[in-house]
Amino acid sequence: MISQHELTRARSRLLQMHFESGVGHIGGNLSALDAMLMVFHEFLSEEDRFILSKGHSAGALYVSLWSVGRLQDEDLKQFHKDDTLLAGHPPAAGIPDIPFATGSLGHGLSLAAGTALGMRFNGSQARVICLTSDGEWQEGSTWEALIFAAHHKLSNLTVLVDHNELQGFGLTAEVASMSPLWQRWQGFEVDVEVIDGHDLIAIRTALQRQTDRPRFIALRTVKGRGVSFMENRMDSHYLPLTEMNFQIAMAELAQA
Ligand SMILES: [Mg+2]
Repeated sequence: MISQHELTRARSRLLQMHFESGVGHIGGNLSALDAMLMVFHEFLSEEDRFILSKGHSAGALYVSLWSVGRLQDEDLKQFHKDDTLLAGHPPAAGIPDIPFATGSLGHGLSLAAGTALGMRFNGSQARVICLTSDGEWQEGSTWEALIFAAHHKLSNLTVLVDHNELQGFGLTAEVASMSPLWQRWQGFEVDVEVIDGHDLIAIRTALQRQTDRPRFIALRTVKGRGVSFMENRMDSHYLPLTEMNFQIAMAELAQA
């Protein structure tokens, strides 16, 4: 099992990377990071594919790749720089572990479902794990992908949803309510589960489970997880860290 020490190390590196680059989108990175670390540390084989549909959490993706040794510290220092591969959203090419450019929201699940069907055509035993935001479930293309995945019984597809109940402009329940999201999925022939998105054992158990249907796992998460003044705060979606807040956050993590 990935250790608490490694979780904290990754969280700290994420904050440092965002602070040094002066960019925000930190809250949604922190809510998704635990699940992404679990995926990269314990589940992905060379043949598997991970697709980050909520591309603005690219920082958590890069830090997860760094945590498992697929990116180096020098790479992370290029985050958000001119001409970098490590852009604010995942790049289209250049990093083998990142199969698609994403971040034009609402498209990642379609890419994942198509990739899963392609693997089946090729006789591959590999799997696709896709992580979406909850806000993306306000987009029609996401539901089309769910219909497609259910119709084709894509049991090699696992969908993790970072269900932090916040999005760029407010509570998801206030912007366009889909709550509770997992109840909407139950009308389709897919496997549905709801877990604590920060409980590593629960995440691992959910990812290990085998079914003959596509799996949709709602991760109950906290936006800004791990930094007290960012938790459940909408402004943690966009705002970068000030020098003072960066120091406070790092001190908090050091005590975690
Ligand atoms: Mg959200």
